[in-house]
Amino acid sequence: MKDASPQTVYLSDYTPFGWQVQDVHLTFRLAPEATRVLARIHFAPNPDAPKQEFFLHGEDLTLIHAAIDGRTVSPVQSAEGLTCTVPDGPFLWECEVEIAPAKNTALEGLYMSNGMYCTQCEAEGFRKITFYPDRPDVMSVFTVRIEGEEPVKLSNGNPGKTGEGFAEWHDPWPKPAYLFALVAGDLVNHPDRFTTMNGRDVELNIWVRPGDEGKCAFGMEALKKSMKWDEDVYGREYDLDIFNIVAVDDFNMGAMENKGLNVFNSSCVLASPETSTDANFERIEAIIAHEYFHNWTGNRITCRDWFQLCLKEGLTVFRDAQFTADMRSAPVKRIEDAQMMRGRQFPEDQGPLAHPVRPESFQEINNFYTATVYEKGAEVIGMLKRLVGDEDYAKALDLYFDRHDGDAATIEDWLKVFEDATGRDLTQFKRWYSQAGTPRVSVTEDWADGTYTLTFRQVTPPTPGQPDKAPQVIPMAVGLLNPNGDEVVPTTLLEITEAEQSFRFDGLSARPVPSLLRDFSAPVVMEREASAEERAFLLAHDTDPFNRWDASQMLGIECLIAMITEGATPDTAWLDGLERVLRDTDLDPAYRALMMGTPSQAELARVLHERGHTPDPEAIWNAAETLAQFRAERWADLLPRLAAEATVEAPYSPDAEQVGKRALGAGVLALQTRLDGGKAAQAQFDSADNMTLQLTALGSLVRAGRDAEALAAFEEQWQDDRLVMDKWFGLQIGAAAPDVAVERAQALTRHAAFDWKNPNRFRAVLGGLAMHHAAFHRADGASYALLADWLIRLDDLNPQTTARMAAVFQTWTRYDEGRRALMRAALERIAAKPKLSRDTGEMVTRMLAQ
Ligand SMILES: [Zn+2]
Repeated sequence: MKDASPQTVYLSDYTPFGWQVQDVHLTFRLAPEATRVLARIHFAPNPDAPKQEFFLHGEDLTLIHAAIDGRTVSPVQSAEGLTCTVPDGPFLWECEVEIAPAKNTALEGLYMSNGMYCTQCEAEGFRKITFYPDRPDVMSVFTVRIEGEEPVKLSNGNPGKTGEGFAEWHDPWPKPAYLFALVAGDLVNHPDRFTTMNGRDVELNIWVRPGDEGKCAFGMEALKKSMKWDEDVYGREYDLDIFNIVAVDDFNMGAMENKGLNVFNSSCVLASPETSTDANFERIEAIIAHEYFHNWTGNRITCRDWFQLCLKEGLTVFRDAQFTADMRSAPVKRIEDAQMMRGRQFPEDQGPLAHPVRPESFQEINNFYTATVYEKGAEVIGMLKRLVGDEDYAKALDLYFDRHDGDAATIEDWLKVFEDATGRDLTQFKRWYSQAGTPRVSVTEDWADGTYTLTFRQVTPPTPGQPDKAPQVIPMAVGLLNPNGDEVVPTTLLEITEAEQSFRFDGLSARPVPSLLRDFSAPVVMEREASAEERAFLLAHDTDPFNRWDASQMLGIECLIAMITEGATPDTAWLDGLERVLRDTDLDPAYRALMMGTPSQAELARVLHERGHTPDPEAIWNAAETLAQFRAERWADLLPRLAAEATVEAPYSPDAEQVGKRALGAGVLALQTRLDGGKAAQAQFDSADNMTLQLTALGSLVRAGRDAEALAAFEEQWQDDRLVMDKWFGLQIGAAAPDVAVERAQALTRHAAFDWKNPNRFRAVLGGLAMHHAAFHRADGASYALLADWLIRLDDLNPQTTARMAAVFQTWTRYDEGRRALMRAALERIAAKPKLSRDTGEMVTRMLAQ
C-alpha cells in the first residue's frame, strides 16, 4: 500500500534532477506473477542542478540485483524508492527487478487485462516498473526488448528486430517515463497507412482482441482525419514510421497518449452502428484526435513538472475542441463545452475541491486530472486566442513549437511565447492560471443622448487557501440589437481588466438590447437582472447561436426556480418563443435538439444555492417532471412534425447531419412518451437497427415504467458485448425514478455480470447513481450509504477510480441539515477506513475541511 503519512508537494520546491539520462535500455521477461525487468541506464551529472543525493523512484518492486559500472551495489530502499552512492562522473546503472502484473489491480504501471499485458504510466506509474527518476523533466531515448510467448508485443517508437519469443522497439524521440508503454497479448489489428505532408509513409494500426476487429474502421478514419487536420491547421507532422492504438478493457481513464503507442479504454475506440451510440462515435472521434494531438502538445513539448499539467492538457483539449468544431458544428460544440463547464467545472471551482488551473500543491497528482485543469485550462487558451486574435495566435504557436521542441516546459514559457510574438504584457492574464474560483460579472446599463454605457463589475469569491482575489482579464464578447431585432453593433470584444469598468457605444438611434458574453467568451458567471421579455427577445433575435441558446436556458432556469420556490406554473411565453425556434427548419437539427434541452437538475441545485436557497432535490425533480409533462401537452401538434423531420431514411452514418436528426428525435420521443405511455418508444425499440435509436427508446421505456420486457430483450440480445452491457447497466439507473434507483443499483451490483473490478462497469452502476441528482440525494441517505460502501471496497483495489468518484460528495454543504449530516457521515466513514489510499484520503480530507 501507499505511504500512510501523505506528504504535500509544492510547486515552489521545484529542483532539477541531479543527473541527465543519456539512454535507457529495458528488457521485459514477461510472466503474470513474476515479470523480470532489466534496466541499463546511462546517467551523467546535470550541470544545471544543485548537488543532491542519487534517488530513484520505485514502488512495489522486488530488487533482484543492482550494479554501477558493472560492480554490484546495495542501495538503501524505502517505500518510495532507493538511494545509492554513485561516482562523480557519468556511469552505467544496471538493475533487475521483479513485479507481478497479474496482482496489479490499481491499473497503474504494468498490469493485466483479460490476459493481455498493458501499461499506464501517467502520472507516476513508471516507478512501479523499475527504479527511475520518474518525473516529466527527465527525458531520454528508450530501447525496449520484450520477451514472452504473446503473439503481439508492442512498445513506443519504431519496430526493431523480432524473432521467436521476442520483439525490440526503439524510440528515437527523448521522452519522459510517463509516456512509456508496453502491450503484449493475443491481439489482431485493423491496419491502414497515412502519408504525411513531407511524404513520410506511416503504418497505422488499431489493435484489439479477436472478435473486435469489425469495430475499428471509424476510429481509423478519425485518426487519419486528425493527422491531416494537425498538418493543415497547426503545421504539425507525425514523426515516426508507425502509429499504434490498442484497445484495453480495464482502464481508469479514457485513453493515454504514449509516444507512438496510444492505449485506449475500449469504450473510447471500438465502434459499430449496432453497438455504439452517436454520442459514442463523437466521443471516439474527439478522444482519438486528442491523444494524437498530444504527440506535439505533450510529447514533443512536455511538462516540466506535474503542476504544469494544464500546459499539455488545456492546450490539447482546446485543439480537440477546434477539431470537433471543424468536423461537425461549431455552435453545437461551443454549447456542449459551456454545458460541461457549468455542469462539472463550476461546481468544482465553487466548492471545497476548487484549485487553480495550475495548482501550487498536491498530495496525489492523480487527483488533479480535473475539469479545472482540462476544461478550464482549455477555456483559458480560448480566451488568449480571442484576446490576441487568430493571426497572432498562429504566430505564437509557431514560436512555441520552434522554441520549445524537445523541452519540458512551464506556463511561464507558454505565456512568454505569446508576449514575444505579440508584444502584449500577460502579467495580469496569468492570474487565470493561479487564481481558483469562477469570476462573477455583474453589469449595469446607462442610456442617454444616443450613448449607451455598459458598466461591468467582477468579483471572484474566496476559495480554499485563496481568500482575496485580484481582478482578472475578461474578454467579453458583446453585440447590441435594436428594439426591432436588428443587430446595430456586431460582436465586439471588450477587454475587462478592472474590478469595475465602463464601455461606451455612441451614435445609437434607440436604446439597444445587449447580447453579453457571446460564444461564452470567458468562463464566468454572468449576473444580470434581465427581464423575461428581454430574454425572450434574444431567444427570438440574437445572431449569436450560443446566446440564443443561453437565453432559452436562462428562461428555463427562471421558470423552474419560480415553480420550485413559488409554486408558479410554467412560463408559456418562453415555451412559445422556443416553439418558434423549434419550428424554424433553417436551423440545424442538432442545434434545435440542444435548444429543446432543459437545465440539468444538478445545475438548478447550484443556481438555487447561489441565490441563497437550500436546494430540495425532490422539489427540483417534481418541477422538472411537471415542466416536461406541460411541454409535451402544449407541443402535442409540434412533436409529430419534428419527429418526421428527425427521421433518417438513409443507412446509418455517424455524420453530423444524421446525428443531429437523431438527437432531435430523442428529444421528441422523450416528450411523446409522456403522451402515449410508451407506444412510440416501443415501436422504435422493436424496429431499431442501430444502438442510438435502440437505446433512446429503451430510455423512454424505463422512464415510462414499461421496461421489464425491453430490458430483458436487450440483455438477451447483448449479454456477450461488454460495452453494450455497460449501457444496459447504466441506463436502468440513470433513467429510473428517484425512489427506485438505489434499489435498482443495489440489485444490479448482485447481477452475475456486475464485475466491480472493471472501472467501466463500476462507473456504469455506481457512477450512474451518483449522476442521478434526485436519486443520489434521496432523503433517507440510502444512495450515500451505498456509494460509500462501494468506494470503501474499491479503494484497496483501485485508489484512482475511488478518489475520482468520491468527488460526487463535493457539494454536500449545499443541502439541508438532514442530507448534510448523512453525506458527512458517509465521508467520515470513508475517511475512517483502515489503510485508506493517499488518493482517496486527500479527496475526502479536502471535502470535509469546509
Ligand atoms: Zn490529454
